Amino acid sequence: MHNLSSVKLGKIVYLDYNATTPCSREVLDAMLPFFREDFANASSLHAMGRKAARAVNDARGHVAAAIGSSTAEEIYFTGGATEANNMVLLGLVDGSNVRRRIVVSAIEHKSVLEPCRRLSERGFEVVQIPVTGNGIVDLQAVACLIDAKTLLVSVHGANNEIGTLQPIKAISEIAHAHGALVHCDASQMLGKVPVSVDELKVDFASFSGHKLYGPKGIGILFVRRGSARLAIGPILLGGGQEADFRPGTLNVPAIVGLAEACRQATSTLTSETSQIRRLRDLFEQSILDRNTDVIVAASAAERLPGTSSICFLGVPADALIAHARCICIGTGSACTAGAVSPSHVQLACGHSREIARCFVRISLGRYTTEEEVEFAINALTESVTAIRGYQPKEANLAMLNHGE
Ligand code: PMP
Repeated sequence: MHNLSSVKLGKIVYLDYNATTPCSREVLDAMLPFFREDFANASSLHAMGRKAARAVNDARGHVAAAIGSSTAEEIYFTGGATEANNMVLLGLVDGSNVRRRIVVSAIEHKSVLEPCRRLSERGFEVVQIPVTGNGIVDLQAVACLIDAKTLLVSVHGANNEIGTLQPIKAISEIAHAHGALVHCDASQMLGKVPVSVDELKVDFASFSGHKLYGPKGIGILFVRRGSARLAIGPILLGGGQEADFRPGTLNVPAIVGLAEACRQATSTLTSETSQIRRLRDLFEQSILDRNTDVIVAASAAERLPGTSSICFLGVPADALIAHARCICIGTGSACTAGAVSPSHVQLACGHSREIARCFVRISLGRYTTEEEVEFAINALTESVTAIRGYQPKEANLAMLNHGE
């Protein structure tokens, strides 16, 4: 059992794997030669360039296999999931006066919601699908909102804050029945749950290297061949790389690292998932046993195995994160100019602003140990007790009854 003495010795426990993951040793080893010996530009025609291009082509094949695409031609390397999401939304070819509706879930990542804001300024009609209290998109609402005027439906596969898995295949079927295209930001799924773009029937999908033990600054956009590819154009113009669709010198070390991360994720998924789920369930049960006035977000929903979003009533997330300095955990709240605003995800799930401000996200990953989880349970319980001790207990309960 840990106590604060381990903190004094400088122990820090990382439980923020949904924010980012460390590069695995195998990924780093695969990347290293491409920084120095095999550093050539993959577009160069000479021998070294061709060697780099072969590495990129091999990587494209591994990535296609990992996401369930039938051909490497559907894979485009990007600078991350943010860029991939922007490429789909801002790249939409604005040629139709009939299809002007974009349908997105209310709990998308900002890298989808912000481009949507730009689209509405351009005259598109952007509508949001509500979610249930458990953070799942409401399929009845999906069926009502998608119509013959809908150009694109964009729903993420798994939510980064509360971990809920969305019914993407059902959404694709509804959208396709109306002739609309489907984009899925699957960046939180890959490496955590099985992913197959063909089974999900999506036209576009985004992924990010640093969410699955690969490097940062590299991502994937899957674009199905045929009508989907014709529906979007490049948002950057330049040297013609990636079939004229995403110009810029290819980041060969990162591409090789991402492919290695995909390979590892595929081979370790099942064993890793069950261990991570066991630790997450242990964490949530112990937190519930040892603390009062706790809400576990989306506890009744199908969730990512390592994600836990927890509200300690009366304990603002920023105060808890500052107090429990020995553990690295996340919050969905955005901090602008010192003011913390509650997460749009928790608000969309129906929580009051006061309660939404009290959710923290604990996300476990490949290297999380039971010892670390126990350490985090103790640290959080101590901090929650300390912070609650500073304010009258009635204030916490009042919050539950009279949220804003
Ligand atoms: N979408 C989701 C669901 C995410 O969780 C993230 C990362 N927080 C992104 C997109 C952005 O990914 P990247 O950092 O690769 O731009």
